[in-house]
Amino acid sequence: MRIRLDSIGCRLNISEIEKMARDFVSQGHRLVGPGELADLYIFNSCTVTQPAARTSRQIIRQLRRGNPQATLVVTGCYAQLSAQAVEELGADLVVDNQQKENLIQLLAAKGLLHEADPIPPVLDPLGFGNPKGLSAEHTRAFIKVQDGCNNRCTFCIVTVARGAARSRPVAEIITEINRLVEAGYQEAVLSGVHLGFYGHDEGHPNGLRHLIQTILAKTDLPRLRLSSLEPWDLQADFFEMWQEPRLLPHLHLPLQSGCEATLRRMGRRTTQADFSQLVQAARATIADLSITTDIMVGFPGETEAEFADSLAFVEKMAFAKLHIFRYSKRVGTAAATMKNQLPAPVAQERSRHMHLLGDQLERNFRQQFVGRTMPVLWENSEPCGYALQWSGFTGNYLRVTTQTLPEIKLRNKIIETHLIGLTPAALQGKLTRI
Ligand code: SF4
Repeated sequence: MRIRLDSIGCRLNISEIEKMARDFVSQGHRLVGPGELADLYIFNSCTVTQPAARTSRQIIRQLRRGNPQATLVVTGCYAQLSAQAVEELGADLVVDNQQKENLIQLLAAKGLLHEADPIPPVLDPLGFGNPKGLSAEHTRAFIKVQDGCNNRCTFCIVTVARGAARSRPVAEIITEINRLVEAGYQEAVLSGVHLGFYGHDEGHPNGLRHLIQTILAKTDLPRLRLSSLEPWDLQADFFEMWQEPRLLPHLHLPLQSGCEATLRRMGRRTTQADFSQLVQAARATIADLSITTDIMVGFPGETEAEFADSLAFVEKMAFAKLHIFRYSKRVGTAAATMKNQLPAPVAQERSRHMHLLGDQLERNFRQQFVGRTMPVLWENSEPCGYALQWSGFTGNYLRVTTQTLPEIKLRNKIIETHLIGLTPAALQGKLTRI
């Protein structure tokens, strides 16, 4: 069957659609990209913000209108919370987040999965039949290890859409990573809704630590990266694992606000003091560590003074990169019914201020590495005059660019690279070897 897979939203959505891609290809189905006709369309939707929900609706409409004969399956968080709307937009099948795990079996059981092509395509470790858009860019694989969340942050619709926390078995994850290493992957990113809670639902409070140690012991994966970790899940001794150089020195710790009062209204289980202590402990233990974060501006009731407090604390934490979000009212969350919802222009102005700070912090962090030589995993290239402009990432998630002659292939190679200067959005690199 010709299958088109699309996904928007978080790394978990990407990891789910990539796993589906690998499973479909291993069954001999052919993945097609944008502009190619498919028999089956699967869209993994998102509803984390109002704009994300709007985009989900747009994509469903486009897929339906563009392919009236094909089967359209919609899953993901927008489908979970707005199933009827998805049906009205023309989906043939709406699959909720719990059923998504077994989507292929479900399609087969409903007779929606036809015979695979007689000559199965060759498994291309980095391209999966070279469909454009899907996984072609990734030389690293997002591995879903956990789903759901038991916390109740007051702004968060994810915990509503994805349900209670649940962990995948360690053995299953090891098998998947070993298969990816065999297929040539250099890096895997452990992903979850609440990654730090991995194993707790099975009675293992040190579940994530155990999982990381098992991956490092039982696979030859060159680079292991962790996606978002809630700060309250970590203790200082957690960072001792970074003595192992395959565990990459990058932590994404969502702070959401740097103001105590706002954190309390958000239902976030951290404080300025706790967060600051954790950051100090991590920096004291992990060399070249980059700490990135999520910051929300315009949360209900956020006064000018609270925002100024948040800005000041974010500056003090000297993050390597900020992911900035304007508060988005989500029906079904506690924050949606809070008083003092702020007007959009206020949130826009605060977002502008936070971005200015974020740009400065990012430049400061990158500047520290000019003159160093670091291993870079090269990922993508684009033509640049008579040369190719490559981009890749260091272990601590610094984006690096370099240029080569067109016949030089750097894709998916880890090469020691001199970091010789700053460009507007990256570090400029000089290869130590080709
Ligand atoms: S920890 Fe909070 S923000 Fe994160 S998924 Fe759970 S409820 Fe949402």
